[in-house]
Amino acid sequence: PLASLNDPSLLKTDALIGGEWVAGSARFDVTDPATGSKLADVANLGAESASLAITAANKAWPAWRNKTAKERAAILMKWFQLLHANADDLARIMTAEQGKPLAEARGEVNYGASFLEWFAEEAKRIYGETIPTTDNNKRYLVIKQPVGVCAAITPWNFPIAMITRKVAPALAAGCPVVIKPAEATPLSALAVAELAQRAGMPAGVLNIVTADAGNSIEVGKVLCDSDIVRHLSFTGSTEVGRILMKQCAPTIKKLSLELGGNAPFIVFDDADIDAAVEGAMISKYRNAGQTCVCANRFYVQSTVYDAFVAKLSEKAAAIKVGNGFEAGVNQGPLIDDQAITKVESHVADALGKGATVVTGGERISERFYRPTVLANVTQDMLVSREETFGPVAPVFRFETEAEAIELANATEFGLASYFYSRDIGRIFRVGEALEYGMVGVNTGLISTAEVPFGGVKQSGLGREGARQGMDDYVEVKYLCLGDI
Ligand code: ADP
Repeated sequence: PLASLNDPSLLKTDALIGGEWVAGSARFDVTDPATGSKLADVANLGAESASLAITAANKAWPAWRNKTAKERAAILMKWFQLLHANADDLARIMTAEQGKPLAEARGEVNYGASFLEWFAEEAKRIYGETIPTTDNNKRYLVIKQPVGVCAAITPWNFPIAMITRKVAPALAAGCPVVIKPAEATPLSALAVAELAQRAGMPAGVLNIVTADAGNSIEVGKVLCDSDIVRHLSFTGSTEVGRILMKQCAPTIKKLSLELGGNAPFIVFDDADIDAAVEGAMISKYRNAGQTCVCANRFYVQSTVYDAFVAKLSEKAAAIKVGNGFEAGVNQGPLIDDQAITKVESHVADALGKGATVVTGGERISERFYRPTVLANVTQDMLVSREETFGPVAPVFRFETEAEAIELANATEFGLASYFYSRDIGRIFRVGEALEYGMVGVNTGLISTAEVPFGGVKQSGLGREGARQGMDDYVEVKYLCLGDI
């Protein structure tokens, strides 16, 4: 699938350290999840290379932070334009290694690029402040400065956007970065890094350390242990987030964590049911259910339960599953064997405890799973507690608003939530009562560069995107001027 790139030189397989492409002494395979075939072998770096990348970033830091915000913004903006100019190739690389349908991959390139544009603009607005004095001999000033060398460990479900969402604010603020992309999707990361080079990113400002699953652990450890690295940003599972947080404790590293979710999707009886079904389709089946904001639990009020289940099942059954490169396909494969096994185990557990399959409920072949709707789902099933990360919609029944809120909040996670209602009072009540960082009201799609993305409870720390997305990459410094 990668033979027909418009620009074959975007297919990079070496890591990028200090502006040099590094082959390393070992390689690892990147495979196409749709076919299982090998796409490329990529540099498999370890602890030593991670240290070199940190040193390179640290060396590049003074010149980068001393550029004016406008100069840094110009490079980010050029990079943004190059992502757009090469969107077709980037989408092909992404579909090949990640599996999502080409149209969705195209969408992610735009979404990923939008963070570069947004933070190029925000770079120029990192305002300080003056505070009215309480002592006529003194003046109080507050300035914001880049935090220092930043590390980013990113996942495979959004191979480009999860990188740009972290590195754009870091670079805009004046911080150099070391990125450890997911082992399943390094090719997208490297292609984007090549475009950064072409945009004029100075050597060492953006480094990519590629590694397989085993080496990722030691690379991660070096990034956490380093006292040069001042900030670590991670998107992935809560389990790995906990490990990284622990590893960062000795150096009191600043952390941005975007971890697991267990998103509720509530449909009240006053909702527009067709709109709720539309929203549910986008929220649940996008990226084959492999996003941290995917609806994981559907709570539907009992009077509209049957209608919602019937309509959702009809639409889910019409999803065309297949290789993401085929025209008309709107659901690709799951990322790997472990992912599909997890989906199967969640469905088996639900069926064993009394749930019924309305549509789907089975593997089509290898990594392809049929879009599924389960009815008569109850709280004792795994699907109520764990993120399925696959195309399965378990539908629970509820009676009252208070019950829906209680069920929705009964989880240690707090990333995204959704509800459908046309009652303005209820919209405020429920919107305020949901213990989540994000609430979609009458919509299943909430992500965009301009808004603060992030979770409460064990879904993470910090916000990405928006004005707030810059906060984690700057230190606030107070200057007290005396003897006035
Ligand atoms: P997912 O559940 O989305 O696969 P993971 O949390 O397993 O996410 O992985 C996300 C990222 O974290 C990947 O880049 C992976 O290589 C990295 N990773 C996984 N385990 C560790 C670890 N122990 N230390 C550092 N990085 C890790």
